[in-house]
Amino acid sequence: MTDLNTPLNNITFGQLMLTIFSIVVGAIAIKITITFDWNKHLEMRQKNLIMKLQNTCTHINLSFNEKKELLAEGLFESPPGTWQWQCKRFGLIRNNMSQTEVNETYRYYIKNFNEYKKRNNRFNKLLKKAGML
Ligand SMILES: [Zn+2]
Repeated sequence: MTDLNTPLNNITFGQLMLTIFSIVVGAIAIKITITFDWNKHLEMRQKNLIMKLQNTCTHINLSFNEKKELLAEGLFESPPGTWQWQCKRFGLIRNNMSQTEVNETYRYYIKNFNEYKKRNNRFNKLLKKAGML
């Protein structure tokens, strides 16, 4: 004559299935959210790295030929009829920059070759981090 009508004993098979079903749906929903955020996180990380790469880029290629002469190749291009300059390497866009300013940037690194090397090393490290090297 003991009353065993506790809620646990009242759970029917249907209710049990419903509970399992909602747990599974809940788990899937959480998984989708995590996957979504993870992709977003990766996308943000990639964007940040590209921004860092653009800012670390020297916008000039310096190398030495067999005669130990310094060869310089500027990477800024200006589409015809615009004041815009875009770096060929990582697409950094500079507005309202004059040819003189572009040349100043190049001259700086030609004069400070060590600074160029340092910056280039940093650039290559970032490339590796971004999985692009
Ligand atoms: Zn550049």
